[in-house]
Amino acid sequence: MTEYQKERQKISLKPCPFCGGEARLRKHYRLEQTWYVQCNQCGIRTPNSVQAAYESWKTTMNYPVQLWNRRVEDGNDT
Ligand SMILES: [Zn+2]
Repeated sequence: MTEYQKERQKISLKPCPFCGGEARLRKHYRLEQTWYVQCNQCGIRTPNSVQAAYESWKTTMNYPVQLWNRRVEDGNDT
């Protein structure tokens, strides 16, 4: 298993706040070290997370995850 796959397994995503569908962490198909989380069902997604020079790819990969999970919580509050 690659480092990348191992890291990815640690990530847990909450269901989509809009449709309750399953979300997935995705790597941009064209851009290097660019990540986002997208709902499999309705297609809503977080903005791209692009790796900065001083960051590790693990850090970059976790930004959209945090963003996604926080959005789900916000949705439940209201
Ligand atoms: Zn959805």
